[in-house]
Amino acid sequence: MIYLDNASTTPVAPEVIDAMVEELQHFGNPSSKFYPEALSAQARLKKYRETTANLFSCDPSNIIFNAGATEGNNHVITGCFYAYPEKKHFITTNAEHKSVLETMKFLESLGAEVTYLPVSEKCTINPDDLVSAIKKDTNLVSIFFANNEVGSLNDIEVLSTICKENNVLFHTDATQAVGKVDINLSTDYKNIDFLTFSGHKIHGPKGVGALYVGNNEYGVRHKLTPLLHGGDQEFKLRSGTQSMHNIAGLAKACDLAKDSLITAPQTLKALEVEFINALNNAFPGQVKFFGDLEHKIPGLLSFALQGINNEMFLSNYCDKVALSTGSACAIGEPSHVLRAMNLGEYTDQVLRVSFNTNFDKQLTKFILLINDYFTLFSL
Ligand code: PMP
Repeated sequence: MIYLDNASTTPVAPEVIDAMVEELQHFGNPSSKFYPEALSAQARLKKYRETTANLFSCDPSNIIFNAGATEGNNHVITGCFYAYPEKKHFITTNAEHKSVLETMKFLESLGAEVTYLPVSEKCTINPDDLVSAIKKDTNLVSIFFANNEVGSLNDIEVLSTICKENNVLFHTDATQAVGKVDINLSTDYKNIDFLTFSGHKIHGPKGVGALYVGNNEYGVRHKLTPLLHGGDQEFKLRSGTQSMHNIAGLAKACDLAKDSLITAPQTLKALEVEFINALNNAFPGQVKFFGDLEHKIPGLLSFALQGINNEMFLSNYCDKVALSTGSACAIGEPSHVLRAMNLGEYTDQVLRVSFNTNFDKQLTKFILLINDYFTLFSL
């Protein structure tokens, strides 16, 4: 099986499995008091928080563990709506992940006004459009760091600075960018107020992630209404006993991502170049790549190959290759991202391949599959 669907999820790293198994040997609840099992759980949780924060060069007190990016996106968007009720205007883009778009739709049903910024054909936001959209009562701007279907990167440094200058909160869904871009929340990206991501996109476990909540001008964490109420865990921002083994796995995945922040993107970029060249050589003039090839996360490519129907290709070779036709989260729907890029006519053709650093020597096999498809289905 050629695994080319790392944007959907990544194989769990062996070191992550070891860290999770080790954590499962302990049973203390980090919210309990006094006795040694509880204290050691608190100490381990503190360490996991420090390790996770280290990936983003931020303070551990700004990291809130949760169940991943879907929860984080819901939390930030609804949490700001309730925390700042006088500000009813929100801004996002029309190419966000559904967990942002549908939450914005939900806010509209509660009386919020939402502006959906258009993306360019390269799937990026024009900063001037953001400037024009900001109003007196704009509460939050939520813009993806890297798009999950085509990989294009927004200029988050510029966009978050525009928001800071206009006194508007800024959130970015960084799920696809973490581990591929050095996101330093103390320097280049200090104007980000909220950031969300999931562990399973960086070789960690599923169902765990973190939400970064930055500080306001007084050095205090931004006010945010919780999504889950009931306990004091996670600085009272996310109730419920922490999933310690998942958090242990997430922290280990962040640690590994930090160690390979320079080498992994280089390897992924090299694989990507090799892939583009091989495809262009094998099928000259037939391949159209989507998104911004110059300014994107490495290792994710979205393309259409003339003559290939994506569903037919995937179902025919489902035991040989794993890739996707867009987002794994919107099964059976035409891609809203391609439509936002005015490329809706490619919905039946688009293929998304996403590598991990272990993808090697499988390229030839992939090209052979495409040739096989042409032999079977052409004419
Ligand atoms: N945002 C983006 C950009 C994603 O790619 C994903 C996962 N496909 C999510 C949010 C949701 O992540 P999860 O399913 O882990 O909650």
